Amino acid sequence: MSSGGTSAYIGRFAPTPSGPLHFGSLVTAVGSYLDARARQGQWLLRIEDVDRPRVVPGAADDILRTLECFGLHWDGPVLFQSQRQEAYEEALHRLREQGRLYACGCSRRQLNALDLRRGPLGLIYPGLCRDRALGFSGHSLRLRIDTPARIRFEDRHCGPRELDLAGEVGDVVLKRVDGIYAYHLAVVVDDAFQGVSDIVRGADLLDVSFLHRHLASLLRLPLPRYLHLPLVYAPGGRKLSKQTGAQPLDRARPAAQLWQALEFLGQQPPGKEGGMAVQELLEWAIDHWQPQRLPAVQLPVSA
Ligand SMILES: [Zn+2]
Repeated sequence: MSSGGTSAYIGRFAPTPSGPLHFGSLVTAVGSYLDARARQGQWLLRIEDVDRPRVVPGAADDILRTLECFGLHWDGPVLFQSQRQEAYEEALHRLREQGRLYACGCSRRQLNALDLRRGPLGLIYPGLCRDRALGFSGHSLRLRIDTPARIRFEDRHCGPRELDLAGEVGDVVLKRVDGIYAYHLAVVVDDAFQGVSDIVRGADLLDVSFLHRHLASLLRLPLPRYLHLPLVYAPGGRKLSKQTGAQPLDRARPAAQLWQALEFLGQQPPGKEGGMAVQELLEWAIDHWQPQRLPAVQLPVSA
């Protein structure tokens, strides 16, 4: 493919419907939207409702209405992960055929008692069940990550990144004992299915990108480019979220919050907040999108 800008840009926004969008979600939505539109790309929407117990009834509809109210119109149909179970099962089947999947019978309590080391993606599971040959039904399924799996990629904002997956992440669960597919599997399968070329999202997901790239390689899927955006923090230094007291976006005053999001992203919007209508402000922002103006990423101390 030529590097002269002829390859199609496909971006996406992929919220979890666990509650209403807040300012942190708006920053991510606006960043991915502008990066796509500034390249005449498509901007797709995916509702990440794969983890069913976390889904709040009505939240997905609320998210769609909020995006429309902020002028963030997506292309094509919305993809719901809850309707993609067959694709995830098929991907697991391919990993199983490669001998990379095994059943794990360890309970959370057993693992907690082991005092396991913690890596950037959580506790590092040391592969205790790898050779137990447990049946696949009634157990969680883990990905065997044992070969030297040093993963490197170049983030468009954060620069070169590198991680030893085997040493710092370990064998991750791809399907839980309750039958729920892991977020990591769903994201990788769906990004390829939707033809996503560029992932623009919050820097809290910078480190999971290593695992996502590894999974995509195993499944022989194309590797997207990445741009990880600076995070919005709550007072006290934790990432802004529902748990840290984020207020829902106010659909009655979208222009002011959009202006604030552009300001946060370092884009130096003209005038004062609320001075321009939503559509006018978005058009200005597409014309003037400069990712090199994004503030530096500072990662949270610990989730
Ligand atoms: Zn186990």
